[in-house]
Amino acid sequence: MSEGNTEAKKTCEFRAEVRKVLQILTNSLYTNKEIFLRELVSNASDALDKLRFRENSGETPREPDLPLEIRITLDKDKKELVIADTGIGMTEEEIGDNLGIIAKSGSEEFLSKLAEQASSDAEHKSTDASQIIGHFGVGFYSVFMVANRVEVISRPAYGDGSACVWESDGLGTYTVSAYEGEEPKRGTRIVVHLKDDALEFAEKYRVENAIRKHSGFIPFPVFVDDEKVNTQPALWREPKSQVTADQYKEFYKSFTYDYKDPLDWLHISVDSPVQFQALLFIPDEEQEFKGPREDEYWGIDLYCNRVLIQHKNKDLIPPYLGFLKGIVDTEDIPLNISRETLQENVVLRKINQTIVKQTLSHLEKMAKDKPEEYQKFWKHHGTILKFGIHQDFAQRDRLLGLLRFNTSAGENEESISSLDEYMGRGLEGQKTFWYVTAPNREAAKVNPYMDRFRKKGIEVLFFYEALDEFVVSGVGNYKEWNFKSIENAEAKDLEAFPDKETEAPKASPLSAEDEKNFDGLVARMKEILGDKVKDVVVSTKLTDSAAVLSSEDGVTSAMEKFMRAMDKNMTIPVKTLEVNREHPLLRALLSIYKADAHDAVLTTMVNVLFDSAQMMDGFIRDPQELARRSAQLLEQSAAWYTQVTKA
Ligand code: ADP
Repeated sequence: MSEGNTEAKKTCEFRAEVRKVLQILTNSLYTNKEIFLRELVSNASDALDKLRFRENSGETPREPDLPLEIRITLDKDKKELVIADTGIGMTEEEIGDNLGIIAKSGSEEFLSKLAEQASSDAEHKSTDASQIIGHFGVGFYSVFMVANRVEVISRPAYGDGSACVWESDGLGTYTVSAYEGEEPKRGTRIVVHLKDDALEFAEKYRVENAIRKHSGFIPFPVFVDDEKVNTQPALWREPKSQVTADQYKEFYKSFTYDYKDPLDWLHISVDSPVQFQALLFIPDEEQEFKGPREDEYWGIDLYCNRVLIQHKNKDLIPPYLGFLKGIVDTEDIPLNISRETLQENVVLRKINQTIVKQTLSHLEKMAKDKPEEYQKFWKHHGTILKFGIHQDFAQRDRLLGLLRFNTSAGENEESISSLDEYMGRGLEGQKTFWYVTAPNREAAKVNPYMDRFRKKGIEVLFFYEALDEFVVSGVGNYKEWNFKSIENAEAKDLEAFPDKETEAPKASPLSAEDEKNFDGLVARMKEILGDKVKDVVVSTKLTDSAAVLSSEDGVTSAMEKFMRAMDKNMTIPVKTLEVNREHPLLRALLSIYKADAHDAVLTTMVNVLFDSAQMMDGFIRDPQELARRSAQLLEQSAAWYTQVTKA
């Protein structure tokens, strides 16, 4: 530092690295310039903290009755923003030391990188200022993004009470001198002379918004033109026992702008392996995750000592806990940490692990102690939680334990069971979770494959989302039980379980001749359907339904739909039509066939039977054709009906 001075006013040159940083800051077009406010407010808050500490250790400061606060005043005409605190203040010597150098001394290499980046960004006009500030402890100097001149007037809280002033245009030099104007009662007053392109920072709403966003939880009151802007206490810092449910709810609503109370919350305070506090809320409604702005929808706000570091940070929680809203505050990361450094930060990883464990425990407890609340939780956030089963192998079994399904044993769509409850109700010797995918309960119940399970009294899990099948398909086992679709049930899977329901009276057995005729009908059906089917066969799986489509490769129809949703070009697979020889409809077709194998009505009926099997399966190839055929059949039936009833 070289000093050229008059008696009263010392003019000093900034250290080389400061000059470079200032050059970059003043000449580049950064976005997010408001970050300078965060830096100045944090500095003021630190100064107040230091004062409070000394006061608490018994040292009475000047003006002991002065409240601990930060006041920002704006003057559009003068193009000024003034920020004043009643904190510890700085002596003339300290002010030069503190504001003449850069707190974190950066390496030359880093600086040149920064300069490089800055010059390329200057063209793109896009770099976020918080990044450059983050790279470096530039803190206070960020003010030169918006200021063409800055005065820092300070009067220390202890000592002889003389005030001093530091002044600079942020170019190459600064001056320090005794202050002769109207001195602050105590602490520091920073006068920011705004550049013409930064006059927005003389607007009250603009400054208020920035303060609320970045410094809303500063532990000292912050006033903008005499109006207090940080009205919310940092609730996460309070001992749990002293926070009421209403306070949590209030906090949640003002934090999220949600009009509804949260479903539940977790207040975490941990000292090791890392120190952090967290306040995490479970919203009482489904969260939107999809869409082009997906990134804005989830994440946890990261604070360092009450100052916002990053909005919606995505390293603090895994995506499958993305429904959580809230705050993490840790002192184990530096305030000026950059985004890039944040990403590989071990502190965040450890916090993430703790949050995962505590959240899962919390949910397990909720499921056990407050099943109704858990049911709501499941309804709102179950889908997102399911993703964890594939994303987080370490927590797989716990997550499987948290799954809930509607099942064939439940009374209605609302009644849900865990896998453990399903196991508890399982039949002697059962080791399989049987499931069927269907759009809703009604559809699941009439699935043709349900017949056998109903008869044997085997409970079936109802999957209403294609995702469910995808989730369990990779799981293998849960507590030594495997998952299997009822569509893929083989005879040997079920032979150990005797029929429970008394058999419905079966159609009379076919004569040997009619058995042959039936084979003939099956062959005729294949002829009629042509390449719409792979084959037509007599089914061994059906009891109540007339026909079903099946594929041998074990891919269920739901899985196909899922795959088709991923790949629009996937063709509808050609399947085998299985028909129930005992079903009255098939018996009627047999009679028609016997009378005339080429009867036109037989052809229509076989096609309609195929259509309905296709509908059950979830694919319709040609809806117009289907509608035409149904209309034709209806017309014929109506004609016959009138004939018969008239007779
Ligand atoms: P940092 O805050 O990271 O240390 P800054 O460049 O923001 O870096 O500030 C440098 C130093 O200046 C601070 O460490 C502090 O000692 C001093 N300082 C800045 N603002 C104030 C203030 N309002 N009151 C007292 N001291 C301050």
